[in-house]
Parts: sequence; structure tokens; C-alpha cells
Amino acid sequence: MTFIIHGISASRGVAIGRVHAVDRGAAEVTERRLDPSLVDAEVERFGQAVDAARLELRAVKARIPEGTPKEIAAFIDTHLLMLEDEAISIAPITYIRETRCNAEWALKLECDALVAVFDAMDDPYLRTRKDDVEHVVNRVQVHLQGERGTTPPSGEGAAGRIIYADDLTPADTVLMQHQGVAGFMTEFGGPNSHTAILARSLNIPAVVGLHRSAALLRDGDEVVLDGGQGVVIVSPTDLVKRFYTRRQREIARIRAARRKLRSTPTVTADGEPVVLQANVELPGESTGAVRDGAAGVGLYRTEFLFMNRRDPPDEQEQFEAYTELVAALKGAPVTIRTLDLGADKQVDGARPDAPATSNPALGLRAVRLCLKDQSLFRPQIRAILRASACGPVRMMIPMLANTTELDQVLRIVRESKRELDTRGEPYDASMPVGAMIEVPAAAICADIFARRLDFLSIGTNDLIQYTIAIDRVDDEVSYLYDPLHPAVLRLIATTIGAGRKEGVPVAMCGEMAGDSRYTKLLLGMGLREFSVHPNALLEVKQIIGETRIAAARKITRRILRSTRATTRHSLVEELNRTGS
Ligand code: PEP
Ligand code: MG
Repeated sequence: MTFIIHGISASRGVAIGRVHAVDRGAAEVTERRLDPSLVDAEVERFGQAVDAARLELRAVKARIPEGTPKEIAAFIDTHLLMLEDEAISIAPITYIRETRCNAEWALKLECDALVAVFDAMDDPYLRTRKDDVEHVVNRVQVHLQGERGTTPPSGEGAAGRIIYADDLTPADTVLMQHQGVAGFMTEFGGPNSHTAILARSLNIPAVVGLHRSAALLRDGDEVVLDGGQGVVIVSPTDLVKRFYTRRQREIARIRAARRKLRSTPTVTADGEPVVLQANVELPGESTGAVRDGAAGVGLYRTEFLFMNRRDPPDEQEQFEAYTELVAALKGAPVTIRTLDLGADKQVDGARPDAPATSNPALGLRAVRLCLKDQSLFRPQIRAILRASACGPVRMMIPMLANTTELDQVLRIVRESKRELDTRGEPYDASMPVGAMIEVPAAAICADIFARRLDFLSIGTNDLIQYTIAIDRVDDEVSYLYDPLHPAVLRLIATTIGAGRKEGVPVAMCGEMAGDSRYTKLLLGMGLREFSVHPNALLEVKQIIGETRIAAARKITRRILRSTRATTRHSLVEELNRTGS
């Protein structure tokens, strides 16, 4: 039966293929012997994990939408019944008491025994029921272990598949990028999570926030994923597949037609030059940026160098990565952003001792973390300075909120230069230092920062998050995410105005810069530097080439004055329709 699941558009494009469900399962279980005094507490802990798994299953069942086939709810009932079965809920307790082992181990042994019984069955249907046992046990294990691990698909299994997971961390996404996945869909996550940004820059269609789909999707199901509309069509008919195959060809044709823009200059229809640069997550991604004619890298997110490893890269390793990028850009400027770890960008190795915090986006992240843990920051500053001897490099600080932080950063840069002088290492003494404007406080005081810095770059992903108070990775509030909110537009206008007044260039490197719906508006507001994910370069360039600044300014003024969201949105549509 064909049915549609609605989610949130994260990366445009169409993927047709089979689902590869990523199991966010429990980590490997090991055996521990307990002191006799701890056995009762261990039994209690086991009971709590079973209770938590039961509540979770009930919650899943309660979220099944009306009209869903009865079999779906029955499937969850089966899991609930299994959870109540003595083999899962009682036998491990007996084992814990008898052998004084940890609860995880007792549950694992019981599961292995059950699976062996199913494996020995002749009936293929009953044999597959062992999957259900494993799912149920896994749910309890996850609660026992208190954290959720991810098993990213590996090797050939993922090629051509559409990955489905509760959520994917940026680290998972990076790991999967080489495996030829056709699309991503996730139960949770917002359109500006790093996973969504990565999917866009990898040109992989993606839909996030597919609530309740876990009960409806199975590994191996055939689906059509329409990333632009944010929908997934499960078990599509031949007619639907033909329609979407045509759509895939049309998208490919439009992309091919834009390729002729690769070597043309970026200028508006009335001849105003615009700087169009690329955002890069990994040095290797610069290939697409250079091929599509980027005038440099406006944002290199260095935190990706720190992911999927235990120890942070040292100064030399960072230097080599940065110079690789500088060399690839063949003389075009590279803006290296210092580490923006924390909140939605977590890594394994950088801060193993980091305490859990209830509000990570407002916590010790980015420059705050770097100033606190300077053993992380100083090698990076030296590596960036050294890379500046090999080509035009700019250093950019994320999340600056006050000038004390700026004073500290500038002092560390001065000290790092002295250190390199002592070591006899070359660097560009006048390497530009700039800041991201992504905290409302910095946008309001952009003039103060502009007077002290060589450039500013507006990070709309965080600026919108902090201005409207919506967690950028929480799909429950993503409906509030609105780049056209008057507060957001005013902060952008204030920053552009401050840059102009102080004679300091202002760029935008947040996702809004690469969203072609806002290109004319941003030009009308006076923005002349865009840094976008490589796959958006040609589309944005095409729109810049169609824009007449004077006409764009006129409608932009009306948009900025308008107090109604609907009016603003329809004015933007009008702006995009006109030949302005
Ligand atoms: C931003 O916040 O807009 C930005 C470009 O930085 P990041 O998305 O890496 O936080
Ligand atoms: Mg940011």
C-alpha cells in the first residue's frame, strides 16, 4: 500500500531507493562482577530500564496517527507483550542474583539463548521473530547504558540506499558521505542541524523531522524521498516512480544548464560586482567550490577535522589540512574559522571530561570553550598563522559576544606570532582577523566589533536560533524558524549598516545566504558578499545575475517596513518573480 509521510525539507532533490535503517542500538556489553552489597541496586536498575522501555513503546503507540493500518499498532503490542514475558523481565533478575553480574550482561545472555531457539526453528516466519526479540532487548539495553550509540551503515550496504535513523550526528553523516547513500531521512532534527547542512553540501536529498515514522518504515522498504517538499512516499506505484524519475531528470537538466555560469563573473544585472564564496566542511570539498567558480572560501568549519577520532589534531596536522585547502584554492582567499565545538557540534576526543549541560547552545561552546581550554586554541591559532604564509588566509572567530573575548583572542594571536618568530616560522603579519556575527548582542553592537576587526560575517543559523529563541536542532519548534522575522532582518540590516559606516566588509555565511529565495532580498539590503555551500553557488550566482539592485531595493524597503508575516512572505515572492 502506498502512503506518504510528511517531514521537514532539509536538502532538495529526489532519491528513489530502498530504506537502510540505521540502528541506534546499545553499545557492546561486557561482564562485570558486583559486590554483594550492590546486587539489590542492580536489580532495581534493571527494573527501571524495563519500565522506561515500556513507557517508550507506549508513547510510540500513542503517536500512531488515526487511520494507520491496525497491523502497525499490533506490531508494537507484540513488543510490549515480549517485554512483559518472563524470559526478558524476570529471568535476568534471577541471573543477576545468582551470579552477581551486571544487568546488561544478564540481559544479553538471556537474549542470546532466546535467539538461539528462534534460529533453530524451521518456519522462516518464526525465525524472523528473533528480530523482534533483539529490538525489544536493545531498547532495554539502551536505557541500561544511559546513552545511545549509532551504528552507521558500512560498506556496500549503504550504496544507493536511503538512510533512515532517529537522528544522525554530523559525525555519522561525514562517515557515510563516501558510501554513495542516495538520501537521508530522520525522525528528529531541524532544517538547520549540522546533519541537514551537511546533506545540502553533499548534495544528498534529505528530509528530517519525520515524526512517528519508526512504526511505519522497515528496513528494505522502497521509498521516494522528495527533499524539496519534505515528504517520503513509501511503496510508490510505478506511476509515482515514473513521475519522480522525470523530476530527477529535470533537476539534472537545470543543474547542467547552470554549469555554463561556472566561469562567468558574479555581477548583478546592473553591473554591480558581488563576492560569492563557498562554505567548506572538509578540505576535500573545495573541489566542487573551485570547479563552480567560488571566489574563495568564506567559511571553513574546522571542527570537522576534530570529529570521529579520540585525540584532537595537533598543530602540524592542522597546518597540513589548512595548507591543503589554501593550495586547492589557488590564490583565492580562505577564511578559516576557529573551533566551534559544543552544542550541536560534538566530537569524541576534544573534551572527554566535559560535563553534561542542560542548555548547550548557551553554554561553553565555540570561542568560549577555546578561551577556557587554550591547549585546544593556541595550536590552532599557530597552525592558521603558519598557513597564512602559503596563501591568502583570514581567521574568523565564532560566537563572539563581547569585546573582552575579542581582547583575549587578539592577545593570543599576538603571543602566537611571537612564538612563531622565536621558532623562525613564517606567517602573514597582517593576516586579517574577523568575527562571525551570530549572537544578537554582537549584531546590535556590530559597529563596536567592526572598528576592531578586519571583516564581519553574519551566521544566520545561530543568529536566528538566538534571536527567536528556537533550538536549531529541535524539530518541534522549527515551524518558528523564520529568516524573515523582523527582528532577524533588523539585526542583519544593523550589521550591514555598521560595516558600511566603518568601512569593513560584511559577508553572510549562514544558510540564509545559500537559500536562493532570499538572494534578491539580501542584495536589496546591501549585502555584497555571500558564502554558500558549494552546491548553491551556481543557483545563487544565476539569481544575482538576474537582479537589478535599484528595483530590488524598492521592494526590500516594503518588506522591512511590513509588520505582517504573510505580507513579508508574499512580498519576497513578488520580489523573486519580478525581473528586478
Ligand atoms: C551560523 O551559525 O550561521 C554558521 C554559519 O555557523 P554554524 O552553522 O557552523 O554554527
Ligand atoms: Mg554558528
